Amino acid sequence: MACTRCAACKYLRRKCPSDCIFSPYFPANNPQRFASVHRIYGASNIGKMLQQLHVHLRAEAADTLHYEAQCRIQDPVYGCVRIITQLHQQIHNAQSQLAKTQAEIVFFTAQAHEELQEAASTFNTLLPQQSDFGQSFYGSSTPPFY
Ligand SMILES: [Zn+2]
Repeated sequence: MACTRCAACKYLRRKCPSDCIFSPYFPANNPQRFASVHRIYGASNIGKMLQQLHVHLRAEAADTLHYEAQCRIQDPVYGCVRIITQLHQQIHNAQSQLAKTQAEIVFFTAQAHEELQEAASTFNTLLPQQSDFGQSFYGSSTPPFY
């Protein structure tokens, strides 16, 4: 009998009913999982929260409650907010780095374009004076390449 109870019912020293709300999410082989969420939220509140959700959302909710409880136990002041803040900071840093890199790409592209125009302009200026092709071949002001 004792080995068939879920972690919650074992912890609460009660009989585990066949339709136990905790049973699918707090297996007997992981008593610490229930102990954590019970410590932070209380068994009654966890039961109510799970009961209010559709069955397909309960496993994720139990995982989230467990994660948040773990964070709150490790950091009683900020809980998971500290991690969320750190992740927001990482996103902000990555976005700043991306914006900087995009600005550099625009800058270097413009610089390369400018150098290319200067080279073409120099080539066009020198060509009629230094080659035998003369004005008739490269007569237009259009640069020979881009
Ligand atoms: Zn149970």
